[in-house]
Amino acid sequence: MKYIFVTGGVISSLGKGLTAASLGTLLENRGLSVTLAKFDPYLNVDPGTMSPFQHGEVYVTDDGAETDLDLGHYERFTNATLSRLNNLTSGQVYAKIIEKERRGDYLGKTVQVIPHVTDEIKGRIREIAVKSGADVVIIEIGGTIGDIEGLPFLEAIRQFALEAGTGNSLFIHVTLVPYIRVAGEIKTKPTQQSVAKLREIGIMPQILICRSEKVLGKEVREKISMFCNVAQDSVIEELDVAHTIYEVPLDLRAEKFDELVCRYLNLKAPAKKMTDWEKMVERVINPKHKVQIGVVGKYVQLQDAYKSLYESLKHAGAANDAAVEIVRVDAEIIEKNGAEKTLAGLGGILVPGGFGNRGIEGKIMAAQYAREKKIPYFGICLGMQIAVVEFARHVCGLKGANSTEFDAQTPHPVVSLLEDQKTIKGLGGTMRLGAMPCKLTAGTKTRELYGSDDISERHRHRYEFNNAYRDQLTKAGMNVAGVYAKYDLVELIELRDHPWFIACQFHPEFKTKPNKAHPLFRGFIAASLTRQNSA
Ligand code: GLN
Repeated sequence: MKYIFVTGGVISSLGKGLTAASLGTLLENRGLSVTLAKFDPYLNVDPGTMSPFQHGEVYVTDDGAETDLDLGHYERFTNATLSRLNNLTSGQVYAKIIEKERRGDYLGKTVQVIPHVTDEIKGRIREIAVKSGADVVIIEIGGTIGDIEGLPFLEAIRQFALEAGTGNSLFIHVTLVPYIRVAGEIKTKPTQQSVAKLREIGIMPQILICRSEKVLGKEVREKISMFCNVAQDSVIEELDVAHTIYEVPLDLRAEKFDELVCRYLNLKAPAKKMTDWEKMVERVINPKHKVQIGVVGKYVQLQDAYKSLYESLKHAGAANDAAVEIVRVDAEIIEKNGAEKTLAGLGGILVPGGFGNRGIEGKIMAAQYAREKKIPYFGICLGMQIAVVEFARHVCGLKGANSTEFDAQTPHPVVSLLEDQKTIKGLGGTMRLGAMPCKLTAGTKTRELYGSDDISERHRHRYEFNNAYRDQLTKAGMNVAGVYAKYDLVELIELRDHPWFIACQFHPEFKTKPNKAHPLFRGFIAASLTRQNSA
């Protein structure tokens, strides 16, 4: 088994996760199986309790772990199926160690960062390797070299590489090589200092991925090689991509990155052509059609808050030969200016997941506008709950209908907590989480799109469609298109008298790949294109 450790230098947001994911794509293209993991130095046990402002999207795995959004890149770029093992935080490490200490497992010893914390981290690497059975384990260390909290992780991977033996592990450092406009020069000093810092800890990176907006040139490469003690052919340039992140694997392949990795790890695995991937990139870059999708949310100004959602829309665009222009609509602006002013002219309207009261009425106005004007509507999680509330209020005449999340005293709790959820205390990891089976209803649009009776999708929510209102809503024109049979929970609804109005309680955006768009997203974009072209 081979291990690759990816660290980051100089600044955050360098695209370390994308680089790791792209390496996964390239190694799979050589017939190798991979798994990827993210080790995050912060003290939260998982990002599930963090605000999107702090952390961006929370990505959910099949087994219901709330994880870092980089795991989304890993799953989209490779065939690896990830689990709660694949995202380790300092919070998890310390929680476990303190539990052991209280139990008396350390038999009177002083509990220390070395060896106890580092052993715990090394143990996780081994567990990932064994459980995945992958040929190559790629581990990305979160944060930037020089951060205090990252040190135990770096010490652990140093020890791990030593124990794995030469030729079995590889250190890749992703760093920034800035271009200083006023001087007209590319600067290598930050990279030199970052690598020096790594060497201080005892880690010698063998490959440098240099993130740059300008082509590096021979001289700069030589300089980096010399001062960082890295072979010249191992100074890899990674320029900002021109169009799409799916170009990254192709750019890195052109730099012979995967060939180099195989050489360092003594892997004999010849590369195949990447025709399918190239074609997909081509479709993303040069689409024939164009469609505008309004995403109505509360974190619309943040790039990362709806990461998987935006990627899913792009994948579905590629599948429909269309460029998807995402129009980010702040729900509170709809409340202020009205739906017509903010949403007219859009091909489709999407209300994604969310928590808390702010902007709720604006989202309800968006659902009403889409229903009445027959604009394709796609509701995800909160977006389904919103659609149910809107339909109950304006079609069934249930005045004041709401979710109990937003109005505990509502006369018509059409969305509410299940009885056995009411006793749950604490917010961390206590939602309905992870993959669950869903049975689709024959004759629905949804069933036709999936082309199958049984599906499995991932969840992350507390509140549910209230079955006490099911008959009334169904009679008025809302079909239940999918159910979690075991507990008779409504997972999917669609409207009968509408060209495309589908909403789901789960998160389909966690199960889509650039080359294999999710059926619901594909159908939504197709319907939105038709609408856009006919409006
Ligand atoms: N806030 C809602 C719930 O907890 C929806 C959650 C979501 O959209 N992910 O049920």
